[in-house]
Amino acid sequence: MTSRALVLVVTLALAFVTTVVVSDAEARTPKRAKQQKATASKSSRAKATKGRASRTSSASDTPHREHTRGRAKKPSRRVAFVYQGPAAGQSVGAPWAGRLQEPAQLPGAERYYIRRPYRAFGTRSTVELVQRALGEVLDAFPDVHVLAVGDLSAEKGGWITDHHSHQSGRDIDLGLFYTEKPQSYPGSFVEATDDNIDAAATFALLEAFAQTTSEDGGVQVMFLGFKVQAMLYNWALDHGVDQDRLARMFQLPHGRGGAGLIRHEPNHDNHIHIRFKCPSDDTACR
Ligand SMILES: [Zn+2]
Repeated sequence: MTSRALVLVVTLALAFVTTVVVSDAEARTPKRAKQQKATASKSSRAKATKGRASRTSSASDTPHREHTRGRAKKPSRRVAFVYQGPAAGQSVGAPWAGRLQEPAQLPGAERYYIRRPYRAFGTRSTVELVQRALGEVLDAFPDVHVLAVGDLSAEKGGWITDHHSHQSGRDIDLGLFYTEKPQSYPGSFVEATDDNIDAAATFALLEAFAQTTSEDGGVQVMFLGFKVQAMLYNWALDHGVDQDRLARMFQLPHGRGGAGLIRHEPNHDNHIHIRFKCPSDDTACR
């Protein structure tokens, strides 16, 4: 065989292998997921604008963030995106009796782990506000371990196992942060204790979401057990966080009578459940 013929054979063989690998991957990727992947990677190339700007203004003057500054050493691995805001008509019905149309999908990222990607669908504003909040916290805590992201909704919404709600693209379960990543985490949620919780990072996580309440489609309510609420409340008090602000966030110190954004719910000592409001244009959303 001449060397030219040999080169031809090798080239053809390589081309064949590449085709097989690519078509196999295509076959396993649903069309919608591919489109969203393309959109996500396109937007992640652009710098986040709105969220980034608002964070910068609030980050410098809060005492508890001072506390975190010593940890900010490594360069950030950003969860960047372009904020588009709510898209009309996505969330239909109630979180416990609803469905999802034209869903957005939370894209994967290096610093958080999506436990069930087939349940990572939500309204656009939900997905974007999650990306923005996670980006803020993970940027502020560059050394913290990977965050467990639990279920949002199925691609078309509706009832899914393990949940009463999570039906209309406005709910998400998130894991907590620990001083050391527990062995079974982020594959499983892990119960928080005084000994294992990273209160600074977990408080920052709650606060990043609490700051979205004034936005269209921002956070409506968060569910977290009293026990964990108390850990975070006490940590925040010790670190000079304003008591009025804490009263708006937590039910403590008044217990069930407290009117905070974060509500007690049984079985929520190992994760937080966050529910977003209906965007104003989503007229079928309840
Ligand atoms: Zn939940």
